[in-house]
Amino acid sequence: MEIEKVILRVIEMPLKKPFTTHLTTVTTRESIIVEVVDKDGLSGFGEVVAFSSPWYTEETVQTTYHILQDFLIPILFRTKIEQPQNVSQLFAKIKGNHMAKAGLETAIWDLYGKRNNRSIAEMIGGERKQVAAGAVVAAKNKIEAIEQIGKFHVLGYQRIKIKIQPGLDYSYIKEIRHQFPDLPLMVDANSAYSLDDVKKLQALDEFQLMMIEQPLGDDDLVEHAILQKQIQTPICLDESIVSFHDAKSAIQLGSCQVMNVKIGRVGGLQNALDIHHLCRKNQIQLWCGGMIEFGISKAFNLALASLPGFTLPGDIPASTNYWEEDITEPEIEVKNGWISVPDKAGIGFSINQKRLHAVTVHREIYQKRAV
Ligand SMILES: [Mg+2]
Repeated sequence: MEIEKVILRVIEMPLKKPFTTHLTTVTTRESIIVEVVDKDGLSGFGEVVAFSSPWYTEETVQTTYHILQDFLIPILFRTKIEQPQNVSQLFAKIKGNHMAKAGLETAIWDLYGKRNNRSIAEMIGGERKQVAAGAVVAAKNKIEAIEQIGKFHVLGYQRIKIKIQPGLDYSYIKEIRHQFPDLPLMVDANSAYSLDDVKKLQALDEFQLMMIEQPLGDDDLVEHAILQKQIQTPICLDESIVSFHDAKSAIQLGSCQVMNVKIGRVGGLQNALDIHHLCRKNQIQLWCGGMIEFGISKAFNLALASLPGFTLPGDIPASTNYWEEDITEPEIEVKNGWISVPDKAGIGFSINQKRLHAVTVHREIYQKRAV
């Protein structure tokens, strides 16, 4: 494949309701949509999932734009791509900046799929035709949380994840568990605790949670291993796993029993696949995380979650969960708790050009220069 043109679009869309954690509140989602165009005029699409501010990882919409424009796009223009599998290796000379890399790498996967009439799921060895839908509750208090869980429960979501923090943990989860005794529940702390809080975290063992996600430091593996020996609830790592090497170290140390894989956080689809293969070999359960994303990124998540090692429901909701109208069509729907994995070429969804145009606040075209 020879990429002739890359179009970067910065888009902005308000969320239907604010998404609150102890780290931030997201009310409007800003993202970069990456379009790669080959010499035959075929397009592939990727999405950069970095947020406007560095509350989840260090990348932001602005830093990813800079890295794409000044480093990654020039590398792409200098190289002929045989396989999308090779792109992450090509970008390896640029340190970090995983979400910028993933935005461009996934666009190439989509283009390759479209050129070869193969879906992403088919190309990566996906096996499931449907994946289990899970939802995230990021609420300010019990009343709000119970109301949100009730709605997701009625819609058939197969597990609910609740954002917790000190002060919004034991009695909060106790009340939720009381209201929903049999619902598969898990909690996500986004690093809100330290090893001084072991007793607080042990107290959560009584609620039969599926797991506790990222209780300790976002760059820690060692203390999570220490904590896992002291609590029964399985630990799931999110922020701490940004590479294959991290996944390998976490397994060796016993830092977790579950991993949440996000294509953006680990620098692309190929890296996510490598982590999948490693975890499968080592009996680490996987699920696909979410980034309050649009349909392009969701399409990749659905393909990833169709792999055999993704044994747990992910943070994959319906299009209408966050958006009045998404930038892809048809809408992603949850039916009895399941979402169909797209089987058409590439991401398997079409771009709603009218909607994309309406939410674009900045657009730039990068053209390969003739040598
Ligand atoms: Mg998380």
